[in-house]
Amino acid sequence: MLKFVILALVAYVFFRALKNWISGGGPAGRQQATGNAADDVLIQDPVCKTYFTRRDGVHLRHEGRDLYFCSPECRDRYLLETSSPDDPSGED
Ligand SMILES: [Zn+2]
Repeated sequence: MLKFVILALVAYVFFRALKNWISGGGPAGRQQATGNAADDVLIQDPVCKTYFTRRDGVHLRHEGRDLYFCSPECRDRYLLETSSPDDPSGED
């Protein structure tokens, strides 16, 4: 009979530890990046300083860097401001 109680206690402790581990009791359990979580990060438009999520942004790859703008208008303005006037190969 005592053996059964000890067994039940061990099972209870084990089950509790398992449940705690599954529900993310540790610090590692909090970050559950599910693929597209990065698309929800806020980015600031370098032209008009508006904040928006990357999912809603207009992407531009410029000089090896990934840039995001709130609208195509801001993207075009950025290209106009950054492109040097004496560069004829500005069009892509
Ligand atoms: Zn903008």
